[in-house]
Amino acid sequence: MSIALRSFADNLLSLLFPERCVSCHRFGQLFCQDCQARLRPYPAERRAFTALDDVGVVFIFEDVLRDAIYSFKYRRVRRMAKPLGQFMAVYLQAYPLPADALIPVPLHPQRRAERGFNQSEELARWLHEASNLPLNTTSLARIRNTEHQARLDTQARQENVKGSFVWQPSSPPPDRVLLVDDVLTTGATLEACAGALRLAGAREVRAIALARSLPSILRIT
Ligand SMILES: [Zn+2]
Repeated sequence: MSIALRSFADNLLSLLFPERCVSCHRFGQLFCQDCQARLRPYPAERRAFTALDDVGVVFIFEDVLRDAIYSFKYRRVRRMAKPLGQFMAVYLQAYPLPADALIPVPLHPQRRAERGFNQSEELARWLHEASNLPLNTTSLARIRNTEHQARLDTQARQENVKGSFVWQPSSPPPDRVLLVDDVLTTGATLEACAGALRLAGAREVRAIALARSLPSILRIT
C-alpha cells in the first residue's frame, strides 16, 4: 500500500474506530485482545516482607504491560485503569487476600496534581467495583514528596520513603487492610505504607500489585 493510501486508510479507520491499542497501535480497542493474551502471570512465590503479611502480584512487568502502564501513568490515559483494574479483580477472585478495606498507595498532593489522578487509586476503584470491598482513598496520606524511586537502589529507596506516610484520622484503620499498588519494585513504598497503618492500629496488612519485574535469576534471555 502506498503511503498516501495507507494514511487515507488510517484516517478512515480512526473515524470508525477512534481507539488505538496502547501497545501494538492497531485501531479498534484501547488494549487489544491479542496484546492482552500476551500478558504473563507473575510466578507465585513466598516473598519476604517485614510489615506485610502477604503480597499478590498479578503480571510480570514486561512488553505489552510495560506499554500499557506507560500510557496509563505517563501519557495519562486514565481509561487504562479499567482493563488493568479488572485484571486485578480477576486475580483477587482466584487468589483471595483477606481484607476489610482497600487502600491505594497515596501520591503526594503535588505529584497527584501533576498527573491529574493517582494511578493506584484508579486501579483500586475497579477492584472495589468487582469485589465490593470498601474503598478508602482519603485516610492514608503521603506527607513527603519524595524523590522518584526509580533512580534509587534498595537501601536508598527504604530511606527515601521512611516516614512518608501517615494515617490521618483519629479513629484507627480497619483491622485488615489490602494496599493497592501499580508496580512493585523493592516493596519499600508498600512497607512504609504498612508501617504507618500498623502504627495506627491495623492488625493485618496485605498488598496487591498489578506488576513486578522478574528477579534477574528467573529471567529468560
Ligand atoms: Zn494491541
